[in-house]
Amino acid sequence: MTCHACGAQLSSTARFCHKCGAAVATAGVTGWRAGLPWGLAGAALGALVTVLAMRGAGARSQEPETVAPAPGSRLQAPDISQMSPEERANRLFNRVMMLAESGKQDSVEFFLPMALGAYAQLPTLDADARYHVGMLQLAGGDAKGALAQADTIRQSIPTHLFIYVLRAHAYQVLGNLAEERRAYDDFLRNEPAELARKRPEYAQGAHLDALTNFHSEAERQGRSGPGRNP
Ligand SMILES: [Zn+2]
Ligand SMILES: [Zn+2]
Repeated sequence: MTCHACGAQLSSTARFCHKCGAAVATAGVTGWRAGLPWGLAGAALGALVTVLAMRGAGARSQEPETVAPAPGSRLQAPDISQMSPEERANRLFNRVMMLAESGKQDSVEFFLPMALGAYAQLPTLDADARYHVGMLQLAGGDAKGALAQADTIRQSIPTHLFIYVLRAHAYQVLGNLAEERRAYDDFLRNEPAELARKRPEYAQGAHLDALTNFHSEAERQGRSGPGRNP
């Protein structure tokens, strides 16, 4: 099976393209789960999870399990006892995005409250953290929550690119094509000036891949016009 959008080779069970985030057209997959571009979580996730998996395999006998295993998942929870609250929240964010990307919705629902709880415990949330929260909310089907995160980012950084990423996905979930398209347009219009600011969250190893994928998606939506099939 290959991705209809970018041509990447996909596993037969994939529901989203790991490269560009496009939904894989599968009979029976409908609603918000079909349209979410999980590739936005960033290619950095793959490397991180590999590291976690290797750590887990090497240290399984010594390390106590800090979190019960998720239903339907043999992934071991990371050892969170040595992490700062920010690291812990980011690990959980990455975990949920990986699970969502591979369609393990049971496990997503298991880890999601933990991840959101970890962000709720942070004293302050910057734009990057609010983007993570918004993406987590989208993973749980909470489009309104993601829109609220976008709004809060906008109040401190009016043209931050994560505003438009969150909005596009949230309005896609809500079926509001006009607002979704506006988010793509706003993204493309503000992108050059924003990228020139070289914010750390835009960097390679952060969310550069996600932004690059979103740029392609924004251009594709601009060309294809309304009436496309999500
Ligand atoms: Zn693709
Ligand atoms: Zn981030």
